[in-house]
Amino acid sequence: MSESRVRRVRAANPSPMTLDGTNTYLIDAGDGRAFVIDPGPAIPEHIEAICTAAAEAGLTIGAIAVTHGHPDHAPGAALLAEKTHAPVYAHPEARFRHDFALSDWEYLTLGETDLRAIYAPGHAHDHLVFWLDDEATLFTGDVVIGSGTVVIAPPGGDMRVYQTTLDRLRREFPNARRIDGGHGESVEDPMAKLDEYIAHRRSREREVLDALDAGAATIPAIVEHVYAGIPHELWPAAARQVLAYLIALEREGRVKSKHFDRPPTPEEAAILDPDLSRIVDPASRAVAAAELGIDRGVTRIEEYEAIRHRLGDR
Ligand SMILES: [Zn+2]
Repeated sequence: MSESRVRRVRAANPSPMTLDGTNTYLIDAGDGRAFVIDPGPAIPEHIEAICTAAAEAGLTIGAIAVTHGHPDHAPGAALLAEKTHAPVYAHPEARFRHDFALSDWEYLTLGETDLRAIYAPGHAHDHLVFWLDDEATLFTGDVVIGSGTVVIAPPGGDMRVYQTTLDRLRREFPNARRIDGGHGESVEDPMAKLDEYIAHRRSREREVLDALDAGAATIPAIVEHVYAGIPHELWPAAARQVLAYLIALEREGRVKSKHFDRPPTPEEAAILDPDLSRIVDPASRAVAAAELGIDRGVTRIEEYEAIRHRLGDR
C-alpha cells in the first residue's frame, strides 16, 4: 500500500468473527483532509491510533463513512466524530447515530476526491460498500473479506440478497483493482475473489440440498453433513448459514419445513442456541451475537420456527 492514498489501521479486536481485527481505512482526499471508513469498535486506543495515523500523514479527518451497524464496525464512529467533529455517513436504515444517510450510488466528496456509496445488503440490511474511483478500490466491509467467507445470518442477513450483491459488484466494477475488506488483507484480484465467493455459495447450497436428499431432516443434521470438516465451535455459525439457505429455498418453493414434535437434544441445542461464552471471549460476545443474528432478543430457538421444523418433501 506504499504508493497508495489508502492507509489501514487495524483494531485490536481479534476473534473467530473478526480475523485479526477490524480494518479501519484512512483515505487521503488530496486537499489535506481524509475519509475514514469503518472506525471500528469503541476502543479508545483504536480511535487514538486512527487520529495519530491521520496526523502523521498531515491529514485532518473530514468524513466518517460506516459500512454497516455491526459492533465491530460502527460504534467507534461516535467516538471519532466527537474527537474530530467530522460528520458520520451511513445507510439510511442504519440504527446507530449518523449525520447523513447516503443513497445508492451517491458520491461523498472531499476536495476533488469522490467516494461512491453502493447499497450492498445481504450480510446486514444496512450495508454499504464504498468505491474509490481514483484507485479502483472497493471497500467492502463484511461483504467480502481478506480470507475465508462471511456469515450470512438471518434475520439481518439474507442469502439471496447477499448473492445479488455479489453479482452486482462483479457486474458493475469489472475494472476494480483491489478489494479492501473489513477484515484480513487486501485482495489484489477482485474478480477472481468475487467469482470464488459466488461459486462457493452455489456449491454450499447444492451440498445443503444433497444433505436433505440423503435424509438429513434438521439443521444440526445438515450441519453435520455439510460442515463435517470445520471445527465444532463454528457449527453454530454454520447452522445460521444453513438456516439462510433454507429460508431462501423455502421462499422459492424448493424446500418445505415441518414441525418437529420434540424439543431439541442437548447436542442440537448447542448448535442452534449456542452459549457464546464457549465460542468467543467476553469482549467479542456482542460481535458474535450480531454476526450470528442473535442480538435482537431472538435468543430462544422457538422464535426461529424453521429451525425446529423437519425439512424435506422437495
Ligand atoms: Zn458484520
